[in-house]
Amino acid sequence: MDATTTTLPTLRAPMPPFEGSDGARDFIARLDTFIRDELHPLADKHGITSENGAPRALLEQVWRRSHELGFYGVTLPKALGGAGFSVVDHTLIKEFIYASGSPFAPHVLGELTGPPRVGALAKQATPDQMERFILPVARAEKAICFAITEPEAGSDAGALQTRAVRDGDEFVLDGTKRFISGSPFCDFAVIICSTSDDPAVRETTAFFVERDRPGFRVEAGYKTMAGQSHTGSIVLSGCRIPAANQIGERGRGLALALGRITVNRLLHCPAMLGLARLALEDSLAHAIRRRQFGQPIGAFQAVQHLLADMATELAAARALMLSVARSLDAGDDARAEASMAKLFCSETAFRIADRAVQVHGGEGIVQGSRVEFLFRLLRMYRVLTGTSEIQRNTIARELLGPTLR
Ligand SMILES: Cc1cc2nc3c(=O)[nH]c(=O)nc-3n(C[C@H](O)[C@H](O)[C@H](O)COP(=O)(O)OP(=O)(O)OC[C@H]3O[C@@H](n4cnc5c(N)ncnc54)[C@H](O)[C@@H]3O)c2cc1C
Repeated sequence: MDATTTTLPTLRAPMPPFEGSDGARDFIARLDTFIRDELHPLADKHGITSENGAPRALLEQVWRRSHELGFYGVTLPKALGGAGFSVVDHTLIKEFIYASGSPFAPHVLGELTGPPRVGALAKQATPDQMERFILPVARAEKAICFAITEPEAGSDAGALQTRAVRDGDEFVLDGTKRFISGSPFCDFAVIICSTSDDPAVRETTAFFVERDRPGFRVEAGYKTMAGQSHTGSIVLSGCRIPAANQIGERGRGLALALGRITVNRLLHCPAMLGLARLALEDSLAHAIRRRQFGQPIGAFQAVQHLLADMATELAAARALMLSVARSLDAGDDARAEASMAKLFCSETAFRIADRAVQVHGGEGIVQGSRVEFLFRLLRMYRVLTGTSEIQRNTIARELLGPTLR
């Protein structure tokens, strides 16, 4: 179709067939009601946007309500009230939540500071740790963050320098963690420390640390490029904790933290693709609404091709994500495949956001427009939870085999 044609084709983001279980379908239907009837009005009432973050009291309200409705603990092991959904189901549920556009999206299942942060630790926790840390988080009463990264230990997570030194029945913690999601409003942190006496030996151990301990300080207040202030640094200076706060065995800290890295990498993809879907939907609506040269811009083939590429790449990324989810459900190792999904979905979602800005023209580059925000937010996913380069390293290592590792 060329620019002189005035009839506009019907433009709709294709709705993929639902591939999850009946339980997940029902769960998503209930989530839809919760988000539409409660979370959207709550955000409107308090002027909360993705960039204008909610105060802790409002977040607590969301966590508690999500818990009451049976959403908050869905990712926990079944013994703790989890739903026992497959990876495919989890993927579809998360994609739905992010595609809703709710600024509370990271709080519905508690991804930022709730059950997904502690579920994998439940097996290691002592009964005392279950009572003091895991159950309060599972019940939506307390918030927790997970701290590995340090100023000198980013991609090379094993290089961490935060030290935990045993002193009688206690450990004394010193060091700085940075870029820790949820730290500005956490009650507890899981901190991965070096417990090696020899700096040349990498030995890491995990600890629960309460925020109100002397020597525990959160430094926050900066914003990421997405305009959000969810992250901060945790500064530990002579912070004493009971030895009973050690999680699992000494020397198993990073192994514990990264134990579910394959599934976790995959489970970042639905967030990115849910957000990319929003960018596509907004672009389709804009292409129909915005008129230039006497017709909707969606009538121009150049704009149609942008939209077609967005929809095609979204479908491809989604197919990869779901195929890896199915492999994980089948019990396959899928380490390289999960990295491929994280790499491809993050790069694709950003390209989709970039095209969405282009379709919106000037409106797309003005702050306050959703695609402008999505462009900045989706750029971050190429760095978070393992950069694109680190994913490529993982894929290449798996391809080349042990001789070149
Ligand atoms: C918003 C946000 C939230 C975060 N949340 C958390 C959190 O909750 N908990 C936590 O522990 N951390 C968190 N992080 C930290 C995040 O995991 C790190 O930023 C990420 O792992 C990269 O580390 P770095 O920033 O130090 O970059 P660097 O490791 O310094 O990397 C800089 C560049 O060098 C490249 N590079 C490094 N090593 C290699 C290599 N071997 N081969 C090829 N290229 C390489 C990288 O790909 C990148 O391009 C968060 C970060 C952000 C921005």
